[in-house]
Formats: sequence, C-alpha cells, structure tokens
Amino acid sequence: MSTFQELGLNEDLLNAITDLGFKTPSEVQEKAIPILLEEERDLVALAQTGTGKTAAFGFPMLQKIDITSRTTQGLILSPTRELCLQITNELKHYGKHCNGLNVVAIYGGASITEQARQVKRGAQIIVATPGRMKDMISRKLVDISKIQYSVLDEADEMLNMGFYEDITDILSHTPDDKSTWLFSATMPKEVSIIAKKFMYDPTEITVGNKNESTNQVSHEYYLVNARDRYQALKRLSDANPEIFSVVFCRTKRDTQKVAENLIEDGYNAGALHGDLSQNQRDLVMKSFRNRQIQTLVATDVAARGIDVDDITHVIHYQLPDEPEIYTHRSGRTGRAGKTGISMAIVSKSEVRRIKSIERIIKKQFEKKDIPSGTDIVEVQLMALANKIHKTETNHEIDKHLESINELFADTDKDELIKKFFSVEFNRFFNYYQKSKDLTVSDSRGSDRDSGGRDYEKQSNDTRYFINVGRKDGFDWMKLKDFLKEVLELGRDDVFKVDVKDSFSFFNTEKTLQEKVLAFFTDYKHDGRFVNVEVSENRGRSGGGRRDRGRGKDDRRSGGRGRRRDEKPRGDRRSRRSDNSENRGERRSRRSDDSKPRRSGSASDRPRRSRRK
Ligand code: AMP
Repeated sequence: MSTFQELGLNEDLLNAITDLGFKTPSEVQEKAIPILLEEERDLVALAQTGTGKTAAFGFPMLQKIDITSRTTQGLILSPTRELCLQITNELKHYGKHCNGLNVVAIYGGASITEQARQVKRGAQIIVATPGRMKDMISRKLVDISKIQYSVLDEADEMLNMGFYEDITDILSHTPDDKSTWLFSATMPKEVSIIAKKFMYDPTEITVGNKNESTNQVSHEYYLVNARDRYQALKRLSDANPEIFSVVFCRTKRDTQKVAENLIEDGYNAGALHGDLSQNQRDLVMKSFRNRQIQTLVATDVAARGIDVDDITHVIHYQLPDEPEIYTHRSGRTGRAGKTGISMAIVSKSEVRRIKSIERIIKKQFEKKDIPSGTDIVEVQLMALANKIHKTETNHEIDKHLESINELFADTDKDELIKKFFSVEFNRFFNYYQKSKDLTVSDSRGSDRDSGGRDYEKQSNDTRYFINVGRKDGFDWMKLKDFLKEVLELGRDDVFKVDVKDSFSFFNTEKTLQEKVLAFFTDYKHDGRFVNVEVSENRGRSGGGRRDRGRGKDDRRSGGRGRRRDEKPRGDRRSRRSDNSENRGERRSRRSDDSKPRRSGSASDRPRRSRRK
C-alpha cells in the first residue's frame, strides 16, 4: 500500500492531508491519483460514494491548476445541490494551504447573482449542478471556455436524473483538449455512451467490481404482507436501538406519510422529498447530520448526494423499480470504512425483484424474519441496561439519597432493579406483548390483490362494498389506484381489491374506515354517486354476503347509474331512512371502529428517547 507522499502529492496537499487525519490513501485514490498527476488523459473510475473519490479527483486537480491565475480551469458537475456543496467543502479543506484558491459552488435554489459575483472574483474551480450551470452559461455569467479539467461525478445519478442534455450542452462550451474524469458507482450503458462521446481513450479503473455494491454492506430482506410494511419498519427500528437510518420510499406521498406516522409514534424521524422547499430540506438534513433525526425517510431523488458517513442501516420500505437504484440506495451506508446493513421490506409479489438485484450487485441477500415482540422487548431491555451502566452518576442525587433509601428500605435489590427498569420498559412491553408475527412464510398464498388469503383472521381490516365494477372500466389495479388517489392513501393502504361486474370489494385498515366512509358520502364518479359501505362479509368473494343478503346485492346492482333524487331501491338515503335496523347496525359499526389510530393512548406506545 502506498503513502500519500508516494502518490506524488505536493507539500500543501500533504499538510492538508495530515490536518484532516487521513492516514493512507483509499483504493480509488491509490489507483487514480498517480495517473491523473502524471498524464493529461481521460479517466473512467467506477467507485461508490464513500470510497474517497472526491479526493481522488480533487487532489490532482488542486495540484495541477494554476492558483495564481483567476481563470476557471476546473469544472466539476455533480447531480445534486447537497453533493455539490459537499464536494466544494471537501476541496476547500484539501486546498486549505493553497493560498489564493477559490472554489465556487453553483447550484439551484440559491441566489444566482451572488453565485455570479463569487465566480467573477476569480474561481479556479467551479463545482456545479447541471441545471444551474446551464442557466449561468446561457446568461453569460460564467466562462468555461478555458477549463483544462472536467469531472463528471456520480455520472450514473446525473443521467438517472435526466441531465444528459444539460451535460452535453455544458460540455459543448468547453475546450476539446481538456481532460475529462468520469466517476460513477455503476456502469449502465448510458454512462458508457457518455464516456464514448465525450472522452478520448480513457483509462479505466474499478474499485470493487463493476456494478457491485460496496463490500461493507450486508443485504437482508424481510418478507411481510404488504399492509404490514409500516409495522415491520417499526420493528426493525426497535430491534436496533442505535439505528441511524435512511428509509427509502418510492413516492413523495409515502415518504411524507411514513415519516409523519413515525413522528406520531414517537420516533425521531424526518421526511426528505421534492415537495419540500430547499429551506425545509436543508433543515431536515441539518437535523439528520447532528443526529436529532435518527430515521430519515426519503425519496430516491431527494436522497441523492446525502453525505453522512455513519448511516448504520438503509431500509427499503419498498423496493425501487430499477435494480441499479438499489445500489445507490444501499451505498448510503457502509461508507468511509464502516459496515452497514441494507434491509428490504418486501411483499410476496416483490420477491422475484430480489433475484434481479442479486444479479446486479453480485451478492446474496439473507432472508430474515421480522423480529418478534419478545425479541424486541429483550433487545430494548438490554439496551436500557447498557445505557444505565454507562451513565455517569449525578452526585446531585447524594443529598436526596437518605430519603430515597428510606422509601425503599423494604425493597431488596432485585425488586428495586425490576421497578426501576419498569419505568422505561413497560411501554415497550405493553406494546409488544400481544403483537403478532409479521413474517410471511414462503409457503403462504400471495398477498397480491389477486391471491387467495384467509381474511377472516384479519380483524384489523375493514372490508367495503363499492358500487362500481368492471362495467365502469375498473379492474383491481385501476380500482386500487382510483381509491388511493381520491382518498389520498399510500400504496399499501388499499388491499384485497375484488372487482365484480357491477360492484367490487376492497379492504383498508379499520383505522381508515371513518375517512373512507366520510369521503364517499357525497362523491360522484363519471356523473354518478359512488356508494361505499362496510361489507358484512369479511372474506373476499365467498358467498357470505350474497348468501346473507341477496336482496341487498340486487338493490345495489339495481341502483347503478341512477340519480340520487330518483330514490331507487338502492338509494343510500332511502336505505338509511326506511330501515331503522340497518341504520342502527351501521351506526354501531361505525362507532365501534372509529378508534384512534394505532390503538391505545400515546403513552402505551413505545416512544424512543432522543439520542441527543
Ligand atoms: P467521498 O467518497 O469522496 O464522498 O469520501 C467519503 C469520506 O471519506 C469523506 O468524508 C472524506 O473526507 C473521507 N476520506 C477521503 N479519503 C480518505 C482517506 N484516505 N482516509 C480517510 N478518510 C478519507
């Protein structure tokens, strides 16, 4: 293994390296720095975030540019504002002894005038996101016609984010004889195309295997019913008391909802997605960096460029559509020489996606069971014991010791310990003592909406009747999407959708019942009222409902397409008013089920204490 001196770096940089406490070069630095220092040539480096790649291109660039000149000589393009700022900061640290160095960050969401002013003062290196850079070029606020070095950092992410056109446009304003250094975690064909188009005979270096996720990360998956995802997430968090995690969701809405639910349940969580303002995102990231937020729930796009080294777990609340995105997600943990765990919560229908991800990352997932309530209770108890053991004694208590001793004079040590622990521990214990097993075994039927299940056991669900069906153009997927859309529910909130010709059934958690029924009291679809009622049949398509009340089914079918004021037999108001028995039944069902979300008061839910 070489030393930084042996790589050929100059005194100023070596001094900065000592200040930063870097002992030895990382693999990508060892491979890239000598090549970039010695030759004027293009480079393609396959390296994950966290491998030290910023220094791999940063040190050579800092050493090669002319700091006495105010001309812009180096341009680094990065996918996100966060990464752009992070690279700028790193370069400033690396170049702290290079007198006269000016590195300027250019990114959207901040004052363009101020950025232009900084560039005008003479920026030898510009670190930019493609959108803002293009904007500044078109307004002639920057001049990159004399750059000698361009870096495309996280090229795969930039292309994923649709920056191909912008990159092409930006590079067309740079000299042909510059050197281009491309860094990418994976090598999809789009990145190869860029390499071919913009680079001349590049040297290739690979850290780890191509398209392989980092070795520091172990991969686990947990098979659950889709609607148990949230409970599974909580258990995974509770079973790891020191967790510092990023939870990935596929949509902004799910991201917001999962974060809100976690906060409501007492976790230190925050949401990061594109519907937040830049200011809000900055605040969330700040809280995450200083550990006030222990679980960051994020979309893929918003999480790009998250630069936090100590993330212990990446949790895939839902798997991404593209296996490559899995690599980016799991690359957020296992950084800077640390180990990390990537946990995927998957439903039966997603299991096959695990296989394609395994092919891409060339690693096996370990199938694990969601920790049981008993496991969690034990982990939490021992975590509490360790915390108490490590706690420094506060001697302010000394003066109260006598009274306390008096109070516990008749309590022996074991009893006292038990009492003491119970103060913190009871909430967890009460919450988990009757919890069900969330793990789904491979042998069970699919939990997809088209699969067969024993619904009688799902006492936490409400099954509904809805008076639209195939004749209205719905299949199970369309109806599920429609319900999610109008009710503003998450991906897993509507399940067991069963579409018949003129009516259908679906389930939600009981906690959503009130919302669902309230919404459909006065809702029209394609000009007619949509009627939703709690179905008496908790099963899917069994004969229960029809057997019990054929007349009702007839009424519902008969009511199709009629206006409310026609008072058909199927009219909801008339049913309500002329059948007091039904009304009573409906009312009692409503009041029975309108319990607060996640049963019990806040105090009997486990709450996590802040780490700081
Ligand atoms: P990067 O892959 O550039 O995002 O770097 C990840 C982290 O590793 C950053 O916080 C760097 O400051 C740090 N780092 C880079 N090179 C080294 C090194 N040779 N030794 C220790 N830490 C490093």
